[in-house]
Amino acid sequence: MDECIFCKIVLGQLPAKFVYQDDDIIAIKDIHPKAPIHLLVMPRKHRESLKDIKREDQEVLGKLLLVVQKVAADAKIAEDGYKVFINSGHDAGQIVFHLHLHVLGGWKKAPRWDV
Ligand code: AMP
Ligand code: ZN
Repeated sequence: MDECIFCKIVLGQLPAKFVYQDDDIIAIKDIHPKAPIHLLVMPRKHRESLKDIKREDQEVLGKLLLVVQKVAADAKIAEDGYKVFINSGHDAGQIVFHLHLHVLGGWKKAPRWDV
């Protein structure tokens, strides 16, 4: 946790472009976007991946999807559509071990992207 870059962003110790924040959840712009719009939505509380979630996280986990809905609408990709995914564990390509949802979209606005 001490070395977790997303915990550092949560604590304001590393910069990020925030698009949403509340008591439980933050959403930021991905630093290396793989689509015209690429956002990361995550709980403030450190959970390494889906293998670490607990029953007590149920409410925040549900709320993450409502935040996805909001940030997608704010980014104006809700109508055209967008991808939401979680890389959980090494084999899935997870590189930052603080649970986060990827939100990708906006291809119609910048069609050269092909993700
Ligand atoms: P994952 O493979 O699911 O762990 O994805 C981690 C994502 O975090 C990648 O898309 C990275 O580009 C992104 N990322 C890494 N460091 C930062 C950072 N400091 N600010 C924003 N996004 C980051
Ligand atoms: Zn963390």
